[in-house]
Amino acid sequence: TSQSINFSSALGRVNSRALLSSLVYVEHKNKIIDPASLNTLYAATKFGGPVSALVAGSDAQQVAAQVAQLEGVEKVIVANNPVFDHERAEIMAPLLAAVQKNTNATHVLASHSSVGKRILPRFAALIDSQQISDIIEIQNESTFVRPIYAGNALETVQSSDQIKVITVRSTAFPQVATKDSASPIEDTSAPEVSAKSNWVGEEVIKGDRPDLASAKIVVSGGRAVKSVEGFEIIQKLADKLGGAVGASRAAVDAGYCDNSLQVGQTGKIVAPNLYIAIGISGAIQHLAGMKDSKVIVAINKDADSPIFQVADYGLVGDLFTIVPELTEKI
Ligand code: FAD
Repeated sequence: TSQSINFSSALGRVNSRALLSSLVYVEHKNKIIDPASLNTLYAATKFGGPVSALVAGSDAQQVAAQVAQLEGVEKVIVANNPVFDHERAEIMAPLLAAVQKNTNATHVLASHSSVGKRILPRFAALIDSQQISDIIEIQNESTFVRPIYAGNALETVQSSDQIKVITVRSTAFPQVATKDSASPIEDTSAPEVSAKSNWVGEEVIKGDRPDLASAKIVVSGGRAVKSVEGFEIIQKLADKLGGAVGASRAAVDAGYCDNSLQVGQTGKIVAPNLYIAIGISGAIQHLAGMKDSKVIVAINKDADSPIFQVADYGLVGDLFTIVPELTEKI
């Protein structure tokens, strides 16, 4: 009867709440926790149950000690083994599956970063769960809000999977703070994994500028900079402000800067305190990556450019005149 169905589903909800617990995959590089993982840990605390954090790789112990001092983390699980370096999805997914099984976690979370986007779908497939990607809000333990159509619509998704596999949009949640005490750190015996791929090497673009995804100030240039030399105008202003450099896809495609700088639907999602868009028209695909910035400044020679519709401050004029003058005056 409908009555008995209601009763059993209500009972299921109560039981699932009592047993609810989260497992967060913590990203790290050079012994530093990836800032986005701090936001993901915060999101995990919203479920109310205990939060465990998984840290994997060689020397993972050092990062684990930092994670143990984060607010809301009840336990850190360490897989201290060089096999987990470079976060290859086919190696990390079985590890995550083994740890999820040991911890009985009902919610497994990672950042919606290139790493999280690589590992979690494989893990979700291993445990036969449907991943919920890029969440910006947690309504309850099974209901989440996520942007679709480049952020033009918000979708509310309810999952009936026993284990929820979730990637988190870091800009939508604050970061966990540190605490005075340290939570326990536990070793996990890594499962036997045979990788079909080998890590050969990586080319990392080194720079003194802050990381684009977590910078407080971002200065971005668009097609209008016209050249690699023109893009230096953007870099100089960013350096003066101690900010990160971003770009529109048109600037990236034209080869004015590296594609790791792309902001937007197919680039990075940023929400700094200050975003300065220079010579960028404001196409929806670009807005999808920056419209949640606290203060938006647009510099564009066309007063009717759509970027001015989202800008808090606008400067109409030629960037080649305005930006060097601005940089000098700051
Ligand atoms: P334009 O649209 O050409 O704008 C240049 C602007 O500069 C104009 O507003 C012009 O008035 C102004 N200007 C020109 N000269 C000057 C001057 N001297 N001084 C001041 N202003 C000047 N785009 C992204 O940015 N990020 C994405 O992630 C992204 N993903 C996409 C995904 C898909 C599936 C598709 C179809 C498109 C995507 N795009 C993305 C592309 C997007 O649609 C736009 O084409 C792109 O953002 C335009 O870049 P722009 O604003 O630099 O160039």
